[in-house]
Amino acid sequence: MTTGLGNFKMNGNSSSLKELVASFNAAEADKNVEVVLAAPFVYVPQVASSLRSDWAVAGENCYVKASGAYTGEVSPEMLKDVGAKWVILGHSERRNILGETDEFTAEKTVKALEAGLKVSLCVGELLEEREAGITQNVVERQLNAVVKAVKEEDWANIVIAYEPVWAIGTGKVATPEQAQEVHAAIREYLKVAVSAKVAEETRIVYGGSVNSKNCVAAAKQADVDGFLVGGASLKPEFVEIVNATQ
Ligand code: PEP
Repeated sequence: MTTGLGNFKMNGNSSSLKELVASFNAAEADKNVEVVLAAPFVYVPQVASSLRSDWAVAGENCYVKASGAYTGEVSPEMLKDVGAKWVILGHSERRNILGETDEFTAEKTVKALEAGLKVSLCVGELLEEREAGITQNVVERQLNAVVKAVKEEDWANIVIAYEPVWAIGTGKVATPEQAQEVHAAIREYLKVAVSAKVAEETRIVYGGSVNSKNCVAAAKQADVDGFLVGGASLKPEFVEIVNATQ
């Protein structure tokens, strides 16, 4: 199974998302690709109730409590209640703009899984970390917090998104070889840190300036199991990316 994840980020409104969902609903999309669209919290119910039934909806984040005095936060249980099946956690914009730590991301992962959501767990290095040659250390540090917090069987409900921060929203996509190198290293890490089964079965998708053209070569890499798409998920072009992800 491969995966096509869209991430609307803080974009769209009720009318533009109505139009976008209608275009996705009318499109011929590969049934072998599990497609998930992450919408801003306030639009999750609208997207979930209007989207084709073979695609699913995700929240773009969640909190670590089910309910209570946490003004402004949204729980995994609430996301589930309004139709989300997935949640994106650890996105670089949460880590780097909102200051969310590896441990907080791991705690969110545990709570989201307990609530019955699937998790798209994002990891990836900053440009200076790549230039310093520590990409793998950074990715392993981010993964390690989650490895310590979840049970082996939980990995069946986690998709890892490798997203080099320097490639997100910049138009500077990683080369297929750069993506493959990190994906293969993540798989090797999972083998040692969790198990050979989890290493083999966990889907690892690439994210960072993916479009309908550059996805073709990346999709052919042995350890690239799909894509997490930001900007291009707001356009009908997203379906071409889904269909290249076989
Ligand atoms: C993202 O939002 O995770 C992302 C990869 O964005 P973009 O495709 O716009 O680089």
